[in-house]
Amino acid sequence: MKKYAELSLEELIAERNLLQKQYNEYKMQGLKLDLSRGKPNSDQLDISLPLLSEARPREKCFSINGVDCRNYGVLDGIPEMKQLFADMLGIKTEYITVGGNSSLQLMYDTLARAMLFGVLGSRRPWCKEEVKKWICVTPGYDRHFKMTELFGFELISVPMTPTGPNMDMVEAIVKDPTVKGIWCVPKYSNPSGNTYSNETVRRLASMECAAPDFRIMWDNAYAVHNFRGECDQLLDIFTEAEKYGNLDRIFYFASTSKITFPGGGVAMLAASPANLNHIAQFLGVQTIGYDKLNQLRHTTYFKNRTDLDKHMKILAEFIGRKFDITLRALDKLRGLDIAEWTEPNGGYFVNLNVMPGTARRVYNLMSEVGVVLTTVGATYPYGIDPEDSNLRIAPTYPTDDEVGLATEILVVCVKLAALEKLLSNKA
Ligand code: PMP
Repeated sequence: MKKYAELSLEELIAERNLLQKQYNEYKMQGLKLDLSRGKPNSDQLDISLPLLSEARPREKCFSINGVDCRNYGVLDGIPEMKQLFADMLGIKTEYITVGGNSSLQLMYDTLARAMLFGVLGSRRPWCKEEVKKWICVTPGYDRHFKMTELFGFELISVPMTPTGPNMDMVEAIVKDPTVKGIWCVPKYSNPSGNTYSNETVRRLASMECAAPDFRIMWDNAYAVHNFRGECDQLLDIFTEAEKYGNLDRIFYFASTSKITFPGGGVAMLAASPANLNHIAQFLGVQTIGYDKLNQLRHTTYFKNRTDLDKHMKILAEFIGRKFDITLRALDKLRGLDIAEWTEPNGGYFVNLNVMPGTARRVYNLMSEVGVVLTTVGATYPYGIDPEDSNLRIAPTYPTDDEVGLATEILVVCVKLAALEKLLSNKA
């Protein structure tokens, strides 16, 4: 097949008519499919069921340092849960405070604290700043962007590249003292699936920021979520930041949401001991302690990193299959010069860029057939994709057959939208 842009008017019309016919056939099927959110399929959740079925007699309710996990107390988490996170992420246990069931909530709390009380070393609450700005790497995670928008930050877009954010731009932007921070999903990024290079991590850790209270929100949500033989490697940002005297710059988040149960897992915040000390005074007012029984459940199931790796390998087969199906479908777009997409080694998403000016049309075509996609623009600040070209594909939730059908339809819709655009350009 020739590139679409090289087709004559007659060829464009013939191709459009052919695809329109296929599209109409899908429409008659009354489908109800969902490629919109990075949620596991229920068969995948079954893999973690032993976590819940384990009987817990009295003697199994104590942490390794003798704490009765059925009771109040221990604000920062039981030692074995800290150890599990430390082994999972390659960071020090001293940096870790264990939270509840959601890392997103810890991110919100962290920002809310900074808004109300300021961060360590700078007592000026961020809510007192007349102008405050935040860097958003795009395309990125919609919930991050909404959070900083809600708190009144002006959102600044910086494009994602295969090695992380465009660092020349980031380094220039942080010269502005009103820029308070940046969102980063450093490994198998949402939605690109790319991992930050060593150079990117070093530059983020060492860059000179005009705001003394600048913070990096390091959301390592997909740290162990590989589904190919080769795993991406991510440099430890704490080690790098410490070298440059910027250890306090890092707020690091992770959870077991996409390891065991989304909404039923364990989350953590990691930061320098000085930051943790500062935070503890506020945390202690907020809660008497998080759910230690769930921490115990997790550390009973995952005794060590080896157990965790074994579990992730089983998930990888599951998830990898859905990505293979998706990529096989997208392959049918190759050579037409109307789309490009990422082929990640892990994470939950494929980033699909369609012909500029057609993403919304693809979304509408898909929803008319009964396939839900992530809302167009959601991957950009304020929900606006300036090019109208980015689509986030989340293949994990439907069954394999459903992913196959949904991505087949996606290919038809991407082609159809491109043909309509090319034809309207010729009109
Ligand atoms: N961060 C990123 C980048 C995510 O993709 C998600 C889930 N979609 C979350 C955080 C949510 O994590 P949690 O369940 O721990 O709140």
